[in-house]
Amino acid sequence: MTIKVGVIGTGAIGREHIDRIENILSGGEVKAVTDVNQASAYKAVEDYHLDATVYPDDVALVGDPNIDAVFVTSWGPAHEQSVLLAIEAGKYVFCEKPLATTAEGCMRIVEAEQKHGKRLVQVGFMRRYDEGYVQLKEALDNNEIGDPLMIHCSHRNPGVDENYKTDMAVTETLIHEIDALHWLIHDNYESVRVDFPKKTKYSHAELQDPQVFTLKTQGGVLIKAEVFVNCKYGYDIQCEVMGEEGIAKLPEVASVVVRKESKLSSNILNDWKVRFMDAYNKELQNFLDSLVKYEEPQGPTSWDGYIAAVTADACLKAQETGEEVEIKLQDTPDFYKNETLVRN
Ligand code: NAD
Repeated sequence: MTIKVGVIGTGAIGREHIDRIENILSGGEVKAVTDVNQASAYKAVEDYHLDATVYPDDVALVGDPNIDAVFVTSWGPAHEQSVLLAIEAGKYVFCEKPLATTAEGCMRIVEAEQKHGKRLVQVGFMRRYDEGYVQLKEALDNNEIGDPLMIHCSHRNPGVDENYKTDMAVTETLIHEIDALHWLIHDNYESVRVDFPKKTKYSHAELQDPQVFTLKTQGGVLIKAEVFVNCKYGYDIQCEVMGEEGIAKLPEVASVVVRKESKLSSNILNDWKVRFMDAYNKELQNFLDSLVKYEEPQGPTSWDGYIAAVTADACLKAQETGEEVEIKLQDTPDFYKNETLVRN
């Protein structure tokens, strides 16, 4: 069975997902597209040789009876409306992060999905499909290092442009750690504090860089998460979990090790798209396959989108106030309690 996909938002990641569905993955076909910039939608049809209808907006696209699944890849503030429309029409949804820009918006989606009665929505947190994270999670789930006590992690980019401001360290960067870490250790966040070390000379007036987030979980795990987006040397994701019996670390990206001129060296990537290319492919293949196999997506849920939104809000407040901020999550509904699968 081929899943017929409609794409809302044909910008950078929308185009990448179209390319994946059409040229890399199996079991999906893009049959409809829309974008507020209609020229962009027509260009996507032309560039990827799609046999697809261009719709004027998300309402019309979601109303196409031939579409099985909707990909929401528009700007963050537009996500909630498109996801709610899709749920109302009983369509599956793959929504890029954020699920909605507010916790209340995420809750409206959670409620609509529960009212519908089965899972329809998957949120685009692709780290869960990265082979390194999958291995780290298996080590923790197999109790190889005992109970986790502390996590040290870093999210470093070589550089960002002038549009990247202090709050984006949370909404664009740390958001991926926020999702991956609670999933890794089966725990919920309780509070967050932010420290600003000495600012790098490579930053600009409206960006504190680096930043260090200290998150505490309900189970007592302490997380030190560094975001450093002008680190210069490369795109580098680190994650080390300290447990009662040992330490488990995210593997380094495979790279040839060279011994030459009294030096031992290997390469570090520069581009996040390259770093997580396999993860994006597995994430979307898993989404398409799950719809056929289980008639439900198996990846990150609307509830994970809600957790990310509440935690991100607290991180933003901690940035502003310099105080430790409580992360107040509602109890997880039974509907979302089953652990989601990540293996293809
Ligand atoms: P982009 O600006 O390149 O593309 C967004 C597109 O959406 C634009 O073409 C815009 O015209 C269109 N659009 C905006 N509002 C719309 C609406 N109401 N209906 C239809 N189209 C609309 O942005 P992008 O980099 O592709 O990011 C899109 C989303 O994907 C963002 O939410 C971003 O956070 C997320 N994203 C996630 C990852 C990840 O690692 N998972 C990576 C990149 C982007």
